[in-house]
Amino acid sequence: MSSSENTSFEALPLSRALLANLPSLGYERMTPIQAQSLPRTLEGSDLLALAKTGSGKTAAFSLPLLMRLEAAFHGTQALVLTPTRELAEQVAGEIRRLARGMENIKVLVLSGGQPIRPQLASLEHGAHVVVGTPGRVLDHLGRGSLELRQLRTLVLDEADRMLDMGFLPDIQRVLERCPEDRQTLLFSATFPPELEAVGLRLLRDPVRIRLEEARTHEQLRQQWFRIEEEQRPEAVRRLLEHHRSERALVFCNTKEACKRLCEHLNAAGHAVLALHGDLEQRERDQVLIRFENRSATVLVATDVAARGIDIPDLELVINAEVSPDADTHTHRVGRTARVDREGLALSLVSPGERHRAERIEEMRARACEWTDWAAVPRAQAKQVAPRMATIQILGGRKQKQRPGDILGALTAEGGLRGTQVGKIEILDMASYVAVEREQARLALHMLRGGVKGRAVRAQLL
Ligand code: AMP
Repeated sequence: MSSSENTSFEALPLSRALLANLPSLGYERMTPIQAQSLPRTLEGSDLLALAKTGSGKTAAFSLPLLMRLEAAFHGTQALVLTPTRELAEQVAGEIRRLARGMENIKVLVLSGGQPIRPQLASLEHGAHVVVGTPGRVLDHLGRGSLELRQLRTLVLDEADRMLDMGFLPDIQRVLERCPEDRQTLLFSATFPPELEAVGLRLLRDPVRIRLEEARTHEQLRQQWFRIEEEQRPEAVRRLLEHHRSERALVFCNTKEACKRLCEHLNAAGHAVLALHGDLEQRERDQVLIRFENRSATVLVATDVAARGIDIPDLELVINAEVSPDADTHTHRVGRTARVDREGLALSLVSPGERHRAERIEEMRARACEWTDWAAVPRAQAKQVAPRMATIQILGGRKQKQRPGDILGALTAEGGLRGTQVGKIEILDMASYVAVEREQARLALHMLRGGVKGRAVRAQLL
């Protein structure tokens, strides 16, 4: 489902190092908060944003602060204040991942409840970016171990929670030590009046963003199709081909049904994978990685096997069979239409399943929208080819394989462009990298030439 606004990161004034690394994190398009703020904050505007966790807010403030860093200068140039140690660690992790294409950027966490000595030692070496809780940051300022005179960007993350936790006086004292000519970015999930007052003092002519409450009912559309039992596999296939989705999740009630349907779609030329309880952990990891990085267009799954998977850009959910449990149905269809995007859920209902559909109808307190599947036109162009292919590299975290090194090997002289490389995942014993399908041969060739001087074994999945 395409969106008319420009949500490509390529449109932003980001450095090549930052841009080239984004696909390896699975960032394909900007989230709404990023699309609304980055064009302005990258030019230096202050920001006041109402946004929650899950909106992509961390990248929304991390990219501007990274763009303003001068790597050769080791003083602290960016400070992110967070209410808790956990959030500080999380934010620091995201900044490090975003910065992995840049020259040696040091990111340090200074949070309370942690011993101070190691922090003092780290500060002696300098840190470009400090992420911390207000009390501990103030403590370091008092000791003279932290210096903010060269600060360029100040971020207040989850500002409302920091106020709730009584951090306001500490924040004010930290602010007194920051230079006036800095950029300030303030994020909060709610906007109480005290925060408005703080914001007014802190921010200069800020861009204001208030994200609409995510997920309205209208974003998720459900259609129901009456079928005869024996028509099921053919109906799933016709719906897939009609909608031409790049990423569809199809649910079956049992693993036998799941395997049968997968075979049927496979024979029809779809790039389909099955996820069910008979897979070993390693096979399951591979299936999820390949579906998530767009090396397959269809995933056929049972409910149990699909538990815990979260794919943000899912366009289409098909219930090949109706679940006997109405809550399960809600879970299934809720996997599409995430993060402000539209989604479609199609359910196939045989005569024996009518009572299940009725129960779901009662629970939703809404009549089902029924359609005749035979009226769905046969698509002219059939299967959608997956955009990416997955290469497995033998060797993972245990062998010290790193995403930056894999990216480096792929994009070395004569190799791929950074934008042709997709998500890179490092597991314990193996690594997986997605590359554009047409580039798969070249990618294999580049990897077999060695990763950071070490020979590796790589194969196309
Ligand atoms: P946050 O709201 O910052 O906690 O981010 C929520 C999750 O979304 C994190 O796992 C981010 O890595 C991820 N994320 C942020 N921006 C994007 C994007 N543009 N595309 C895909 N994932 C993203």
